Amino acid sequence: MESSRIEHIPCPFCGSRRATPWAEELGFTAVRCTDCRFLYCNPRPALTLIDSAVRTGSHGPEAQGLQVTSRRIDAKVRRYRRVFADMFDDLWRRGEPIAWLDVGAGYGEVIEAVTALAPSGSHIEGLEPMGPKASQARARGLTITEDYLRPDHAKVDVVSIVDVFSHIPDFGEFLGTVRQVLKPGGELYVETGNLADLERREEFPGELGLPDHLVFAGERHLLGYLERFGFEVIRIRRWRIDGFVNLAKNIVKMLIGRPAGIRIPYTSRYRQLQVRARLRAQSASVG
Ligand SMILES: [Zn+2]
Repeated sequence: MESSRIEHIPCPFCGSRRATPWAEELGFTAVRCTDCRFLYCNPRPALTLIDSAVRTGSHGPEAQGLQVTSRRIDAKVRRYRRVFADMFDDLWRRGEPIAWLDVGAGYGEVIEAVTALAPSGSHIEGLEPMGPKASQARARGLTITEDYLRPDHAKVDVVSIVDVFSHIPDFGEFLGTVRQVLKPGGELYVETGNLADLERREEFPGELGLPDHLVFAGERHLLGYLERFGFEVIRIRRWRIDGFVNLAKNIVKMLIGRPAGIRIPYTSRYRQLQVRARLRAQSASVG
């Protein structure tokens, strides 16, 4: 690899440079920080290449031309609707219109779910930097802008990021921007896996998605970031995905020749973390 196309970085969570290899995929290595146990791709593609892959869905030769455009999944809308109905039940009961911004909206599944729950008069919109995803979502009539989150975005009540954490090179910087677009007392919904809470790579049967996925948190990393940037957690769910439905899916995958691992249900420590947090009233001094 050309050295200008990849870069070596310190731990994105704690800044340490001490780390040991944890897993390899597509020629990239996820390392474990010796000091805080965060997992991150190191070395990683240069930021210009990350930006290009996020916008086009195509990675360069250093990632063997990995394609990540995927497709819209209808079942996601139903799943998110169930999750948000529960996690934000007080918002729906209050019945006041809200402004909700989904960042990394993909094909708009979260937006569709929230739109079905939100009081009339609400404004539900998304940002999606990947062109093909944003245009398909717009074709379905959703309000999605092809862009990253920017500090001058109109103020909103809630920002959501679902399965986006691992794509963000600097989550601290991102949270700083989220603070700027939230109204006072505004809320953030984050959903991501707790991969860094696993000891061994083998405990997670799926692909890691390196180098499309750059960082992997554990619960204390995610909560640590939120605390650092002035958010208080008001609700957290730890959703396990290793039930019998998942076992059946993996058996089907193996039967059609796709990569899948078979595990005994209800034995994995892997969880999908679903966190609802609120901006603290007095949190001016954060860095
Ligand atoms: Zn660290």
